[in-house]
Amino acid sequence: MNTRINNSVNADMKADLNTTIFGKILRGEIPCQKIYEDDELFAFHDIHPIAEVHFLIIPKKFIPTLADVTADDSALLGKMLSLAPLLAKQQGLIEGFRTAINTGKLGGQDVYHLHIHVFGNRPGANALRAMGALT
Ligand code: AMP
Repeated sequence: MNTRINNSVNADMKADLNTTIFGKILRGEIPCQKIYEDDELFAFHDIHPIAEVHFLIIPKKFIPTLADVTADDSALLGKMLSLAPLLAKQQGLIEGFRTAINTGKLGGQDVYHLHIHVFGNRPGANALRAMGALT
């Protein structure tokens, strides 16, 4: 049975065939607000934040969707998830945050390079905003 999500592409595609926006960001072809990079992962602020803080964690390996991961990717996925709270804390999300992985057409995925959304508001931000201290 083919369990891949419709509209997905072969996860074995070479990275240089990664024509997504995130592939271009990884190759430095378009700019981003980078917050983290190591040999396997990259993280940057979302260009259309839905909260005071909203960033994305992506693997450098080209994996189109969560439905394309294999058992070989288990360690990489664990690394992505465990990076989320570290970066969230660095970004001031010290009292909690939300994560999301949109998968496939009906899952609301727009960019077909696996990514974890991490987003939330810093403590006190809502109170300050209500006082007109933040825009
Ligand atoms: P998704 O709908 O889960 O595929 O999320 C894709 C996310 O990528 C959206 O939240 C977009 O705002 C974000 N995005 C698209 N282009 C860029 C970009 N050039 N830099 C940063 N984030 C982007």
